[in-house]
Amino acid sequence: MELFNTLGDKIEKLEPVGAPELRMYCCGPTVYDYGHIGNFRTFLHVDVLRRFLRQQGMAVKFVMNVTDVDDKIIRNAAAVGKSIAEYTKKYEHAFFEDSDALGIERPEVVARATDSIPDMVTLIEKLASEDIAYRAEDGSWYFRIARFPEYGKLSRKDFEGIEDGARVDVDEYEKDAARDFALWKACKPGEQSWNTALGCGRPGWHIECSAMAMKYLGQSLDLHCGGEDLMFPHHENEIAQSESATGKPFVRHWMHVRFLLVEGRKMSKSEGNFYTLRDLLLKGYRASAIRFLLISVPYRHQMNFTFESLTESTNAIDRLRTFHQRMLKGGLADGLDEAIAAVTAKTETDYTAALADDLNTANARAAIFELVRAANSAADAGTLRAGNVKEILRVLDLFDGVFAVLKDNDATITRAALTWAETEGRLGEASSELVTKLSLSDEDIDALVAERTQAKKSRNFARADAIRNDLLAKGILIEDSKDGVRWRRK
Ligand code: AMP
Ligand code: ZN
Repeated sequence: MELFNTLGDKIEKLEPVGAPELRMYCCGPTVYDYGHIGNFRTFLHVDVLRRFLRQQGMAVKFVMNVTDVDDKIIRNAAAVGKSIAEYTKKYEHAFFEDSDALGIERPEVVARATDSIPDMVTLIEKLASEDIAYRAEDGSWYFRIARFPEYGKLSRKDFEGIEDGARVDVDEYEKDAARDFALWKACKPGEQSWNTALGCGRPGWHIECSAMAMKYLGQSLDLHCGGEDLMFPHHENEIAQSESATGKPFVRHWMHVRFLLVEGRKMSKSEGNFYTLRDLLLKGYRASAIRFLLISVPYRHQMNFTFESLTESTNAIDRLRTFHQRMLKGGLADGLDEAIAAVTAKTETDYTAALADDLNTANARAAIFELVRAANSAADAGTLRAGNVKEILRVLDLFDGVFAVLKDNDATITRAALTWAETEGRLGEASSELVTKLSLSDEDIDALVAERTQAKKSRNFARADAIRNDLLAKGILIEDSKDGVRWRRK
């Protein structure tokens, strides 16, 4: 497959070099709060890429870090009087719960920053031994960027006339300044710190990713991913640290996901357009529709999230699932509709070509909907044959191996979100319709449906009707058919 490479600014073939598997790293979440839909846009596209590569027969080893110590975490943990470990545990757990809900597959390795402090110290010591890292008066250690002439090669910034020794000690800083950045921050009273050969302190953010990527994937890796904001300074700094230490290219292929806008603007709490996954679940939107929407716009395109587009995404999923059910139902005459067979084959080719072309998820999606449209009309017209269905189901499975939206876990996920909201005292934010609709579990419904069947058998029609109406009021439809009774949530 071909993927845009930020390093060199061009589309290039993505392949493993020097190892049987593609070695892939992604900057993971900073676990100081719940993940927002912008974060998940990035993690979802990384998931789509990984699923597609595997579908194409490539072995992939994927490592993601969890930043569980940084300026914000220290500040927030102190504000609520907790240790950073206690504070971050909750948000790390929530992050993986949300990732699961969105169908994001777990990495082969999840690496917590606080579990790799010795590796970071070793890396800084190596840089210090060549005077590329130096110690400031307060005991902090800095990276001397004047010693890395290629600084700026990823973001293609020209740092001509770098001011040697100008320093910055915050993790994120102005986008146009080249400054010696902190590798190790000297301990301060009340802050979590580690006693190491570098003195007492804690790691800077950038060194974390260099140390952990190389620890698990070796000195040169194939692919490194993250949101576009990380290109500078974070990824530029990762390159400087790693390449100065090893003398080898750190990463061959860099993938950056463009930022998500919400209702046309940068998402921010003060603007009132900031949404976590949980916010949207409590409003009654389905996890599958959120996944589908966030992956449907190709990763290098500007994406603008709106509630209108989320509703459209919900409808699109309904259409796909209904079509899938229709194909599973069977009962068609033997034989083959040649025209539909041709559309099915073309869909498979178009779908694969789209994703192989810099992960064009929009075109892959369009190819599948073309098949849905054509096969539905053939089925309506009575020309669809059993021979077509087998192939159609195979192509749908292929699509779903990457898009992962056909299986309906939505009600279970939303129920879990409601339980969480209850423990956090946030149930008031949930739409009342949703609370009514999900007040019954699948087992409760099964039991009521069984009771209704029994009532009908014993000719207690009043009771049977009452159960049916109660369920209907909670958004549950009972369907009687020759194969028995089925129910579904509206
Ligand atoms: P953080 O937890 O802030 O370190 O961010 C985790 C990931 O989400 C990083 O790869 C960020 O670049 C990415 N990210 C943050 N905000 C957005 C956004 N609005 N759109 C897309 N990706 C984002
Ligand atoms: Zn990183």
